[in-house]
Parts: sequence; C-alpha cells; structure tokens
Amino acid sequence: MLTQASNTYDYIIAGAGSSGLSLAWHMVREGLDGKKLLVVDQNLTPENDKTWCFWEKNRPQFAHLIHRKWLQSDIFVNGDHYHQQLRQYPYYSIRSGHYRKSILDELQKHPRVTLMESPIRKLSGTETGAGLTCDKGHFQADFIFQSCFKPSLKRKPRYPLVQHFLGWEVTVNTEIFDADSFVLMDFDETYRQGLAFMYVLPWSSTSALLEYTIFSKEAEELPLYEKKLELYLHNRYGLKRLNYNIDRVEYGNIPMNDAIHDPWFAPRVLNVGANAGLTKPSTGYAFRRIQQHSRAIVDRLVTHGKPAPAPRSARRYRNYDLWLLQILHDHPREAQDVFQQLFKNNTLDELFCFLGEESNLREDFKIMKSVPWWPFLRAIWKTRRSLFSF
Ligand SMILES: Cc1cc2nc3c(=O)[nH]c(=O)nc-3n(C[C@H](O)[C@H](O)[C@H](O)COP(=O)(O)OP(=O)(O)OC[C@H]3O[C@@H](n4cnc5c(N)ncnc54)[C@H](O)[C@@H]3O)c2cc1C
Repeated sequence: MLTQASNTYDYIIAGAGSSGLSLAWHMVREGLDGKKLLVVDQNLTPENDKTWCFWEKNRPQFAHLIHRKWLQSDIFVNGDHYHQQLRQYPYYSIRSGHYRKSILDELQKHPRVTLMESPIRKLSGTETGAGLTCDKGHFQADFIFQSCFKPSLKRKPRYPLVQHFLGWEVTVNTEIFDADSFVLMDFDETYRQGLAFMYVLPWSSTSALLEYTIFSKEAEELPLYEKKLELYLHNRYGLKRLNYNIDRVEYGNIPMNDAIHDPWFAPRVLNVGANAGLTKPSTGYAFRRIQQHSRAIVDRLVTHGKPAPAPRSARRYRNYDLWLLQILHDHPREAQDVFQQLFKNNTLDELFCFLGEESNLREDFKIMKSVPWWPFLRAIWKTRRSLFSF
C-alpha cells in the first residue's frame, strides 16, 4: 500500500529502478533512517522485464536475490569453442521484478519512507534545495537523486553505438540446456552491420533466456531478432517452433559510448544510474557500478552531508574503452577477431578482472599483448588527441 505524502523531505529518489531502489535500500540500511525519504516512480509494479547479470569476486550485494550463479561459461567464435571455469569471478543473475519487490517490501516497513506512483514532470534545483513536480503535486528536498531524465552531456560521443537485443525465455520438455554453464557469446558471423552474438542464460536443463545481441550504430526491426532466435534454437538445439514455449520476452537498447555525463542534473539534483554515465562503454554492463555508487553516495552523506557524484573510470580504462569503441564502430569485422584472441589467450577470470576495472598494469599489459596489434594501433592513432585530455 502506498503512503500519503506531505511536501517536504530530506531526500527524494526520482525513479525506482536499479539505481533508485539500490540507493533507497542503502539509505534505510546504512544509517539514514532518521531522514524523511520520498521515492517516486511512474510505475511501482514489480515486473521481470530486465535480467541483470554481473560478476563479483566477493559476496555480492543482494546475495539473497540471486536467481542463478554460474561457475562455467562457453564462448563460440570463428569456429572455435572455449569452455572456461570461473574460479575468481562467479557470474550472477538477478531478476528485476524480484529485486523491486524485495526492496519495496523493505522500504514499506520504514515509517519515514514514502512511496509514490506518479509520472514525474519536472526536476529543478537551486543552491539551497531541490524540487520535483509530478501529477500528485510539488515536493521539495535537500537533495534529489534522479534516474528518469537524460542529463546534459559534457562531451558528445565520438563513437556512438548501441547494444540492442531481444531475449526469449523459453521452456522445453526435453533436457537440452547445460544448466551449469552460460554462453557469454556465440558470435553470428552472418550479421554484417555490427557485431552480433547469442547470449544464453540457462535457468535449468529445460529453461533458458536466450538474447540475440548486436553492438552497432542503430537498432534493428523486431523480426530480425526473432528470426535469429528461431534459427539458433533450431541450429544449436534442434528445436522447431512447436517444440518450445516463449514464456517471456525481454528487449534492451543500451547506449555504449564515450560521452561524458554531467554528474549533476541541476544544483542539488544528482544523476544516478545509467543517466550518471555508469554504463561501461565497451560492455554495456552497469549493475555492479550502480551498486558501488549507491554505497558511495550514502557514505558521503553520512560523513559530509553531501552525496558523492558518480565516479569516472581511471584514465587508462577510459582509453581502453575508447579504442575498443573505435574498432567496434568503424571495423566490426575486426572486432570479432579481437574478441577471439581475447578469449583464446586469457581466462575469463582475467577478462572479468580487467573489464571490472580491478586489474593492475601488468595484467592490463598481458591482455593488450594478447590481441591483434593493428586495430589497436590504428585506434590509438585515431584517438590520439584524447589520450591525455579526457
Ligand atoms: C533489458 C536490459 C537488461 C540489462 N541487463 C544488464 C545486465 O545484465 N547487467 C548490467 O550490468 N546491466 C544491464 N543493463 C544495463 C543497466 O544495468 C540497466 O539499464 C539499469 O536498469 C539502469 O538502471 P537505472 O536506475 O539507471 O534505470 P532504470 O532501472 O531503467 O530505472 C529508471 C526508473 O525511472 C522510472 N522513470 C523514468 N521516467 C520517469 C518519469 N518521467 N516519471 C517517473 N518515473 C520515471 C522508470 O519507470 C524506472 O523505474 C540492462 C539494461 C536493460 C534495458
């Protein structure tokens, strides 16, 4: 049940998705429960419309919400097959509906938290406070944390790409999926406008989420993904359309680019989540970085009374991302060879450590040494002006 709101709060969370709810959860768990908090979203119904996956060395945040954990992965590229054990970085999945329900249930127990379902029309801020206007009125707070509106960019992307995908959650009545191993990437060499691959998360031997995923300049029409999914189920698992049920469909369109986001939407209105630029440009993963940012915001509120703006990656990781984006954007065929060499010459643990930005320079060098030199030398040349300046 939603609580009736008054108009002034200490904090307002505008948008109750991955970042907004994680922030609210940290706030009530980690010492801010004396404050008044308003959480607003246009739709608070828990829906499993997103499957968030991530890798993590330590015990993961929201361990109680983990839907599946894998310690093995398969990669198929250019006719090669790499089967990998994950010894350091297990791969986890969380369903967005479970996440939302669990956190909303927790928030509802706190008398100083108000949940409100309403489309937000406007956010504004001054040096002394911030305001939110929605269909239920105007509300004020010391700080607003927003994941609803696209913020201004400090720099427009040079290599704008999107990661777009259609997923089918299917069930079958024969045991055909290897429930212990997820398919990180099974490349589709027939797709020419970008880099395309199938991603398979097996929930059990008879149920899996398959996502046909493309990194390219623009999204495709729906029938293309559907056709690819149908073909894959037939070619890899021998399934005809009548042999499986599609229980759920998941669509995503995630920007992958080198834009620099303004941390603040307005004075005292902080961007969080994807709008804070927390999506890793070269992979599209954001979930783990969002959790880290939520914790940092709350820590800083406790110690300094002000929230922490979203951190930027270290300069060297920004450059690695930029080089890979340049290759993906301008030479997607070569990008597939880069991926092949990455998987051939490194363990997935090493790659996850690197992509999670936890590697040291020696580990970075091993990875850089393992990929074809020419595409990277060209990318470094093309992006040379920004090597030290962004
Ligand atoms: C389908 C999909 C799958 C993904 N899978 C992964 C993954 O496996 N791993 C990973 O690391 N990342 C993944 N991502 C990327 C990223 O983690 C997610 O996009 C994540 O949800 C971003 O969190 P967020 O809080 O910024 O936005 P959201 O979770 O989208 O939350 C934004 C919220 O704001 C609300 N809102 C928007 N506008 C208004 C308005 N005007 N008024 C009121 N409310 C509003 C929305 O209803 C929503 O609840 C995925 C993204 C998608 C789209």
